[in-house]
Amino acid sequence: MVEERWVQQKKRGTLNFVAQSKVFMNQGTPPRLRFAPSPTGPLHPGGVRTALFNYLLARQTGGTFVLRIEDTDQNRFVEGAEQFIIDSLAWCGIKFDEGVHMGGPYGPYRQSERKSMYRQYATELVEKGAAYYAFDTEQELDEMRDRMKASGTASPQYNSITRVNMKNSLSLPADEVRRRLGAGDPYVIRFRMPRNEELRVQDVIRGWVVVNTAQLDDKVLFKSDGMPTYHLANVVDDKLMRITHVIRGEEWLPSTPLHVLLYRAFGWEDSMPQFAHLPLLLKPDGDGKLSKRDGDRLGLPFYAISWTNPETGETTAGYREAGYFPNAYVNFLALLGWNPGDNREMFTMEELVQLFSLERVNKHGARYDFQKLAWFNQQYLRKIAPADLALMVRPQVEAAGWQTTSGFLEEVCRLMRERLTLVGDFSNMCIYFFEFPRQYDPEVVEKRWKSPVPSCFLSLADALERVDAMGAGELESVFESIVVAAGLKQGQLMQAFRLALSGEVGGPALFEMGALLGRDSVVARLRRAVEMLGHG
Ligand code: GLU
Repeated sequence: MVEERWVQQKKRGTLNFVAQSKVFMNQGTPPRLRFAPSPTGPLHPGGVRTALFNYLLARQTGGTFVLRIEDTDQNRFVEGAEQFIIDSLAWCGIKFDEGVHMGGPYGPYRQSERKSMYRQYATELVEKGAAYYAFDTEQELDEMRDRMKASGTASPQYNSITRVNMKNSLSLPADEVRRRLGAGDPYVIRFRMPRNEELRVQDVIRGWVVVNTAQLDDKVLFKSDGMPTYHLANVVDDKLMRITHVIRGEEWLPSTPLHVLLYRAFGWEDSMPQFAHLPLLLKPDGDGKLSKRDGDRLGLPFYAISWTNPETGETTAGYREAGYFPNAYVNFLALLGWNPGDNREMFTMEELVQLFSLERVNKHGARYDFQKLAWFNQQYLRKIAPADLALMVRPQVEAAGWQTTSGFLEEVCRLMRERLTLVGDFSNMCIYFFEFPRQYDPEVVEKRWKSPVPSCFLSLADALERVDAMGAGELESVFESIVVAAGLKQGQLMQAFRLALSGEVGGPALFEMGALLGRDSVVARLRRAVEMLGHG
């Protein structure tokens, strides 16, 4: 169906966007991309970015985006992780066309449910001479490693050299292999890695990557529990699901030579996908892989949404719960490793869909700057209409027990919008609009609360009482007249005036703030400050 629609759109020239990446051009069929996470824990930001880049390209090219769950490693399975992945991506606005949560023509999309399909592929490779049965016990494997270490091999491998001394279908007589298989002896199926071959693997981001197979081991493809390993299941499923482009994290680059060899061994070279390995996400300061501890250290969220550890029951808030906007988060992630070629930074999802290209993805790692994410959130917050923001902060106002009108709240939002990073900052940063200052910043008191400031403020209070309507303009001119009468400069009184009104050193435009508080409140706050802080 998607294919038909794509061909029609292509013929009519109505494909929404022109593919930005050369790798997607001149394709006979619409591209099929996939995100293939393993449900081994909460989805790391690097995973969200991988999903995002795949999604952007699928949308840009009129292709299909598939969510496949790779859960063949039962030991690492974590309860709730799959749902967490689905919910995190949904919050980000990353949508799929097929997948574990919605079905589709190439299902099932959970590898544990495809278990029965893999054995035949593993056996096929054995028959073709590209894989073999290995009967070694854990103990025998350990002994081999110890022997090799003792003779000076730092990282012993099961490979073309060592396999001859192990118990497998390449080293044992054929009748013993038959006997063992017939008797139901436990075995794994290993890939028969060529001894010494220079393998060239093409990566869209990295160009040609050359590896000698002498460095690679005979990876297990199929385990004694009847489950395939990641490598076999991943390649078989990419083939069966007709995946055309594999875009994944850099940590999978070392596995790619094996994957390429698997395509070759199956005789599937013609349908081998193009590979693109995305750069790692690095710590905000210095090198090394980004980890949750980096967020913990800064007291900031790390995951997109809140995660409850199924073992401890402990919940950590995500960006969603902390009040970040999904479009700010997506905007931030898009620029981790990719850039548009100029210095623009603000992009909607739709713009990213149009502009994104793998050619502009870097090879080197991208720093995950938590402050930059906060900055993006601030930019998005500034664009929210004050009336809408007022609705968003209303629950905080109610929780604080502040009585206010929606008109007043809207005006506070208009004034304070620029100063908030998160919607959730509102109740902490705006207290003084709803209450008299709870305290006065001691540094400002120390520096500015000096004679004749307090008496000027009493005169200002008196003068304001005589004003009927007090807008920002009136307040400023009355203030100015008091300043002149005292023979001072405006600047000498400004900070103290703000202190008297809000208790703080910084804030929005002072006279506008005063006008919003209203004449009576300004007068009362001035008198109260003199009462509390004395006459200087
Ligand atoms: N299951 C792998 C993961 O957890 C998938 C890697 C790939 O995309 O091939 O990331």
